[in-house]
Amino acid sequence: MTLRVFELSQDSAMWPRINGSFNAAHKWGLPGLAGCPGCGVTWASSGHQYPAVDLSNLPAQSEFLKARPEPFEEFARLRELVRPLAPPGALLPPGTLFGPLVGTASGRFADFETQGSMLLVVRREALERLQVEGVRGLVGCKTELRFRQKDPPELLELQLEPRGQLHPDCYPPELPPPCDTCGRFKLTLPDEPILDAASLPTDRDVFRVGNFATVMVGTERFKEAVQRLGLEGITFRELPTR
Ligand SMILES: [Zn+2]
Repeated sequence: MTLRVFELSQDSAMWPRINGSFNAAHKWGLPGLAGCPGCGVTWASSGHQYPAVDLSNLPAQSEFLKARPEPFEEFARLRELVRPLAPPGALLPPGTLFGPLVGTASGRFADFETQGSMLLVVRREALERLQVEGVRGLVGCKTELRFRQKDPPELLELQLEPRGQLHPDCYPPELPPPCDTCGRFKLTLPDEPILDAASLPTDRDVFRVGNFATVMVGTERFKEAVQRLGLEGITFRELPTR
């Protein structure tokens, strides 16, 4: 049976009934890379974030508080400090983020809330209902959002790990392979992305595309559970697979 998958996006049609917003960032992060010795590029990734990874017991945690580019040796040293705390096999490119979302929030929130295509936040009660429905791989992480209003919602961030790949038919044929040193892959997202069916995970219902981590994906099981429960805040666009 072919796995059907859907890109998850903010449902902007709900505004102004739903007008929640936050001004927040993850507590820790790997630095960006300043002038890769392999490809020469200064860069940081987007969409690689692990809110369940807690760096607070790391003696060097203060070195992860400030976003900045670092030379490769320093970036690699810091990455090795984090690796034992990250999920096995995580790529941890420059700019990978860790820990809770910290900041302020206000307004009326739907069951799901996104910040651009960067992260997916869910109300605790919605997450629990999805778990009862058998949706797999939901890792809800505490946020540190300060609300000014009374009785604020309890918002959790879903840890969406990169899995699966865009299908190579999405790439221009002359595209150079990823950099051997830093892993940078200069790929632009096509308007009609196609996913590589054989690469898709079978153990979870929400994830990010492994080589394009700003694309958040849910399986048909996830979509059906969200719709059955009448949860609001995200839209679904089917992504073809090949
Ligand atoms: Zn490089």
